[in-house]
Amino acid sequence: MQTFGKIGVMPTYQYRCTECDHDFEVVQSFTDETLKNCPKCDGEVRKQFSNVGVVFKGSGFYRTDSRKKTETKPVDPKPAPTKKP
Ligand SMILES: [Zn+2]
Repeated sequence: MQTFGKIGVMPTYQYRCTECDHDFEVVQSFTDETLKNCPKCDGEVRKQFSNVGVVFKGSGFYRTDSRKKTETKPVDPKPAPTKKP
């Protein structure tokens, strides 16, 4: 089990109720149980990862999807050669 407690970062999970569409965020530690029931209607909830996500500061083992563009990064960003007459 990872010891994220040392870092002091509590991941925020976003849930959505499948019954009443209630969106809510819950700050949980990794050892906490996954929420299963909506606080409003006690319906089934699903964990969402898209919006808030889980951010680990400085850990480096978790890469967000937004960094996928790095594989096409410009290696030599010199300006294009301009043709002069
Ligand atoms: Zn609900």
